[in-house]
Amino acid sequence: MTLEEVAQCPVCQSTAFHTGLIAKDQTTTGEVFHVKHCQGCTLGITSPRPREEDSPRYYQSETYISHSRGSRSLFDSIYLLVRHLTIRWKYRLVKPYLKNNGLLDVGCGTGHFLQYVARRHPVVGVEPSVKARETISPAITVVSSVQELPDRRFGVITLWHVIEHVYPLRDTLQQIKQHLAPGGVLFLAVPNHQSADALHYREHWAAYDVPRHLWHFNRQSMATLLQQEGMKLLATIPMKLDAYYVSLLSERYKRSGSLGPSGIISAVTTALQSNHSARKDGNYSSLIFVIQA
Ligand SMILES: [Zn+2]
Repeated sequence: MTLEEVAQCPVCQSTAFHTGLIAKDQTTTGEVFHVKHCQGCTLGITSPRPREEDSPRYYQSETYISHSRGSRSLFDSIYLLVRHLTIRWKYRLVKPYLKNNGLLDVGCGTGHFLQYVARRHPVVGVEPSVKARETISPAITVVSSVQELPDRRFGVITLWHVIEHVYPLRDTLQQIKQHLAPGGVLFLAVPNHQSADALHYREHWAAYDVPRHLWHFNRQSMATLLQQEGMKLLATIPMKLDAYYVSLLSERYKRSGSLGPSGIISAVTTALQSNHSARKDGNYSSLIFVIQA
């Protein structure tokens, strides 16, 4: 399979990069990929990367769907509880902006957030995976791409850990913007490669998630992107639980699969330290950027 080089940064158009690091695809293929860093805006870029038409092969892991089926381990139960609490928390964040225009969730996956919001507000989803789409209630409109969206505007558009997966980064943002109602707000959640847990785990940091994550943001590269798109940053919200989830996964990768009690302690300590140092510099493991277009 041929890989393609990303010669220019999509955010600041620079062609100068730092070498960065080499990370392994931990969930699907075990292949290794380079993450280089843009010298202009500090965006991390997975390059060379699989061509877009080859990318489905890297999404064939069952990891994301396995939690909703069959017998549950303690880990699965914790995961489900955290997922439920996170959905409620996200709903409280978006609620003030919903008004009558409803919500569009781009990259809605198996639709848990979408279905929760749908109880109270009109919603539409975008999800490219057929498998994921099929698990969502047929009463909810879910299309396979942004291009297929109905001609309609929304009070809130959410992309929860989605934009880092999108090949045509700028085009997609511009298309999404067309669906924002006047005064509408965009919620962009991304991992932050400048967080203390990222710096601690380096190439084992689970949120590099190569080659599914094409772009690796921090606050600087996001600010540059928004400036280029003429979008306004209203707020930056930390996702503190992500430090724990990502550290547990990273610790497992670092120890080649087996976590054990010492791995759990180490992960929790790293997550606590990451959230603690982020109180000073704002570099949480994941951040939600609240944006007005
Ligand atoms: Zn750049």
